[in-house]
Amino acid sequence: MIPCSYPKAQYLSHKEEIDLAIQRVLAEGNLVLGENVQAFEKEFSDFIGTQHTVSVASGTDALCLALKALGINSGDEIIVPSHTATATVAAIVLAGGIPVFVDVEPEFFTLDPVSVENAITGKTRGIVAVHLYGQPADVESLKNIAQENDLKLIEDCAQAPGAKYKNFRVGSIGDVGCFSFYPTKNLGALGDGGAITTSNSEVAEQLKKLRQYGWDENRISQFAGYNSRLDEIQAAVLRVKLNYLDRDNAKRIAVANQYAEQLSSLPIALPIQRTECSHVYHLYVIEVDRRNALANHLKSKGVLAGIHYPVPAHLMPAFTVHSTSTLAQTERVVGRVLSLPVYPELGRADQLKVANHLKEFFGE
Ligand SMILES: *Cc1c(COP(=O)(O)O)cnc(C)c1O
Repeated sequence: MIPCSYPKAQYLSHKEEIDLAIQRVLAEGNLVLGENVQAFEKEFSDFIGTQHTVSVASGTDALCLALKALGINSGDEIIVPSHTATATVAAIVLAGGIPVFVDVEPEFFTLDPVSVENAITGKTRGIVAVHLYGQPADVESLKNIAQENDLKLIEDCAQAPGAKYKNFRVGSIGDVGCFSFYPTKNLGALGDGGAITTSNSEVAEQLKKLRQYGWDENRISQFAGYNSRLDEIQAAVLRVKLNYLDRDNAKRIAVANQYAEQLSSLPIALPIQRTECSHVYHLYVIEVDRRNALANHLKSKGVLAGIHYPVPAHLMPAFTVHSTSTLAQTERVVGRVLSLPVYPELGRADQLKVANHLKEFFGE
């Protein structure tokens, strides 16, 4: 069986260091907001290229708290792709905002800047750009649009830690970058976790209050805050794995290159990389006719391909109240996308097996 993602293999490949890091936390006895969280936040800021990182309990919380820290109020419109993990959209609603769905660029699956401009109204306050599948969105255009219209730019980096837009890591370009450390992500903890990166000190200070009861430094609540903290064990594990992130992303890219070589003659659309950007292949997503038949064929051969995502957010019961224009690309791609297995530990023999089962399906 070849799974679509395989967090256990990640643990096993760094087992000694991870086990040691966990043992140290347990021996130390400080379990919440201690030295590992502090060190991880510093190391992650250095890695991404921002002044601050504020860790929280999940990627959803990272987005929700970031929107609150940026001053999003109820009734504010936030532009967002519908073709994304539903958490992106849920966070906007939880923060009190109104999601305004916009279409994606057909070749990159990320926010289409022209559609974004058309969606701006007097109530628009922000844009959430999702670096979907590990590929940076067109943040240069989006940043220009945000600046011209006095909007906040929020980067959803859950699928793309380490990816670069030109010379900048994603998460260092917008007002804030929001990350998830869910186990299957490129930088995965051994449970839930998340973080916000920013170079705005006021936003960072507000986030530190928001994540812990609204407390100031004297533990006096200045407002009703949340409890959304990364714990010490997860921070210690993430510190180990952050050291390997670029190397593990390079392994994902090598798998992608192998697929591209093997599958080039088949009647499928392979991922296209944006020029001057890196793609860290959280997912290797192809577009194909007869998608479900291909997925079933692969499954019968023990290859578990995924579908990210079969139903766009604007057609889910949670979000249908938020009216939208037709999203032609979004509604086209959801029936055609298929995610092939990709993770750093996926060996060459298994890569070839996946490719051969695809060739078999197309009679090659
Ligand atoms: C995983 C993910 C999230 C949510 O992160 P959680 O840690 O699961 O809350 C948000 N946005 C995108 C694009 C994701 O892939």
